[in-house]
Parts: sequence; C-alpha cells; structure tokens
Amino acid sequence: GERQTLLVVANRLPASAKRTGEHSWSLEMSPGGKFNLLVEKDAVSKSLAEMKCIPVFLNEVFDQYYNGYSNGILWPILHHMGLPQEYDHDTIKTFETQYDAYKKANRMFLDVIKENYKDGDIVWCQDYHLMFLPQYLKEYNNKIKVGWFLHSPFPSSEIYKTLPSRSELLRSVLAADLISFHTYDFARHFVNTCTRILGVEGTQEGVVYQGRVTRVVVLPMGIDPNRFIKTCKLPEVIQQMNELKDRFSGKKVILGVDRLDMIKGIPQKYLGFEKFLDENPNWRDKIVLVQIAVPTRNEVPEYQKLKNQVHRLVGRINGRFGSVSSLPIHHMDCSVDSNYLCALYAISDVMLVTSLRDGLNLVSHEFVACQEAKRGVLILSEFAGAGQSLGAGALLVNPWNVTEVSSAIKKALNMPYEERETRHRVNFKYVKTHSAEKWGFDFLSELNDAFDESELQI
Ligand code: UDP
Repeated sequence: GERQTLLVVANRLPASAKRTGEHSWSLEMSPGGKFNLLVEKDAVSKSLAEMKCIPVFLNEVFDQYYNGYSNGILWPILHHMGLPQEYDHDTIKTFETQYDAYKKANRMFLDVIKENYKDGDIVWCQDYHLMFLPQYLKEYNNKIKVGWFLHSPFPSSEIYKTLPSRSELLRSVLAADLISFHTYDFARHFVNTCTRILGVEGTQEGVVYQGRVTRVVVLPMGIDPNRFIKTCKLPEVIQQMNELKDRFSGKKVILGVDRLDMIKGIPQKYLGFEKFLDENPNWRDKIVLVQIAVPTRNEVPEYQKLKNQVHRLVGRINGRFGSVSSLPIHHMDCSVDSNYLCALYAISDVMLVTSLRDGLNLVSHEFVACQEAKRGVLILSEFAGAGQSLGAGALLVNPWNVTEVSSAIKKALNMPYEERETRHRVNFKYVKTHSAEKWGFDFLSELNDAFDESELQI
C-alpha cells in the first residue's frame, strides 16, 4: 500500500514569507536559504511544496484568531495570568468575535487537511492555536489518527475554569487519540481539569471520554543537539567567540536570551542581579549580564509597558553600578542570528533563565548543547518545563525570590570546576539523548498505539 504520511499542523510554517516588493516575496526556511518569487498564492504554495510545506491562507480572520483569541485569551490563561481585566459590553463583543474567528481559522486548517489527507495518514496538531482541530478532524472522518501536543503549560483548573469556552475546548481536544504535554504537572492539571469541568473519569492512561480512552502522556520536547554542537565548531563562529572573549576579557559573562514577554520574568531577573551587585561590591567590575530581549507582540499595549519597565530597570541598575569602563547590563532589544547566538552560548559562564511560567524553554537546552568546552552553569526557573528535565544539573530558582536568584548567581560564579563538570555532564547527556527527533518518534509511536487500542475498544 501507500506509505503513511505525517501531516504536522501548526500555526507557523517552518518558513517565513516576507514581501520584498509589490509582486515579489522572499521565502526563508529557518535555518536555510532564501529565494524570491511572485506574489500570487499559487507561487507561494508551489515553492513551499518544494519544502514539503502547505500554507493555509487565513486572510481576514488571522488577526482576531491569532492576536485576539490565541494570544490575548488563551495564552494568558495557559500561563496562569488570567483573563484580561477590562470587561464591558464592547470587550465581551470583541471576545465573541475573536472566538468565532478562532473556530473559523481552525476550520480553514481542516479544509486544507481534507485536500491532502489519504487513508492511514497521521495528523499531528500543534499547540493552543488549534484546539478545535481534533474534533473537526474526527467529525470529518473518525478513522483519522489524531494527536495534539501542547507546547505551553496547562494551568491549574482553578485558573482554566474562568475561560468562558472552557468545556467546548476541552471536549474538542479530547476527540484526539493522543494528547501530550512537556511535564507531569501540565498533564495532571489537564486530567484534573477534565474531571472537574466535564465530570469525566481520569485514569493512569488518560481521560475516559464518550466511552473511549483519550491517552494522555508526558513527552518533553528537545532540540537538535548536533546542529548546535556543529555550529560551535564553524570557523566563523569560533572567530565570533574570540571577539566576544576579547570584548569581555577579565569578566564573567551571564547570559539571558528571551522574547520580551511577561512570562519570561525579565524584571525579576534584573532585580535578582541588582541585589547581587548590591551585596557583592567586589564583583561589580568583574561581571556583565548580556540580555538578548527579542521583540515580540510589539503592537500589544501590555508588551509596550513591559518594555518601558524593563528599560527603566536597566537604566537604574547601570546608573547605580556602572563606571566609565564598565556597564553591568548589556540589554539589547533585538534578535541575533543563529551562529552568533551559539557563540554567545558558548562563551558565557552562566545562563540565567527566570521564566515565571514556560512550556519548556528551548534556550536552556541550547545553552547546554553549546557548553562542551566551558562547562558553564545553568540557573533555571523551577517554573519552566525544562526545570523538570534539566533540574538535575542546573541551579533551580524561584524567580519571584530575588534573594534566591542573587544567591544562585553567587554560587554559580564561585562554583569549582569539578562541580560544574559534573552538573554539565548530566545535562549534556540529557540534551543529547532527548532530542527533538526522538520526541517526534516517541509521539508517533504512542499515537499509533493509542489509536490501535481505541479501535479495539469500539
Ligand atoms: N532565538 C532566535 N533568535 C534570537 C534569540 C532566540 O531565534 O535572537 C530562538 C532560540 O534559539 C530558541 C527560541 O528562539 O530556539 C526560543 O524558544 P524558547 O522555548 O526558549 O522560548 P519561546 O520564545 O518559545 O517562548
């Protein structure tokens, strides 16, 4: 028979299309080459097909579906931040429109899947943007193998409960054969939430829904470690490392790499660092904190507020502790290319991750992969999913506790080589063995099992 095809469905293509002129677009596969093409949809689709990608053109629903419902409503609920506070007639109307757009967008994904699905194929839905898709797929054809992976955290039921469309969303994802999360806590929250809101039974296997078991498993994602290990050996990257080492010679480098998002705890990071500088005057001219703050959701007012708050903190701390020859914080509102990022990971002594809530946190894995030469220390928030897998080698902190962050910085800077070596080895082994590739295979094999089992139940 024909080979089983895996259809990975995600809100974002692994390629980005940018308009370069009135009739030309440039497509970029990350990481990879660039090329120009004509503006028509067909041409975009054709070029994407060569990369084995199929676009879904969401057009006018995109803003309400993506910025509105996905990022304005679901994102804060999933990250324990609650629903937006301003509730009045107009905002409720807006939420309703956004919810409709969200459902419509999910249907548009379904339509494109219908055109491409053949019997026996697997459909793997990614993340909170596509919570209606499992149900739509099963309604269309209940023989489709459907999996859903949530890349963000799943909150406690007490928070999830506030969501007006809480039951519909849960019922829809339960239509999948397999549901998976990065951590046990997220999976447990999900199963408890289903029990409390839908009154369904939760078992070791998953959730019993409409007479069948929807399997729930924990499968933390990983990175492609070899890509990072190889990048660190490129002459161009070694050159960048040498320049950075010269630039920061005589100083220890602490690195932060985050999107400038509330969930990343950047103000908490700076407050912890400020306390460290305050209490350890001997370190003031021997240390720098390099923070890459990647711009994100710029048009949203809360994000603009966060940016101002963070800039004020940087100003205050550099003002308090800076001198003519040194500034403690190098804060950059930008992204950097992947080679330069590897060079930064490789030359840093300490990586500081202070997420208040984070699905996994890939940056912590990437740092570990690039630290074969240096054996730097990872300080990691216990609220990042990665805390449950890299916790053995990292120094875990509660980012809300500035004293703890400050002490962890001190401990990391003074840590003897043997301990750094031991901690690094544990985490490096984890990152090497728990790659994204393994994650993908494990998910598919669980999905095939779950599907076969549910066939037996019917
Ligand atoms: N990253 C990037 N450009 C940058 C800085 C970071 O592409 O300038 C990448 C980084 O390598 C990582 C991702 O962005 O793979 C961030 O993933 P993470 O899970 O840490 O956080 P998220 O942004 O998904 O919340």
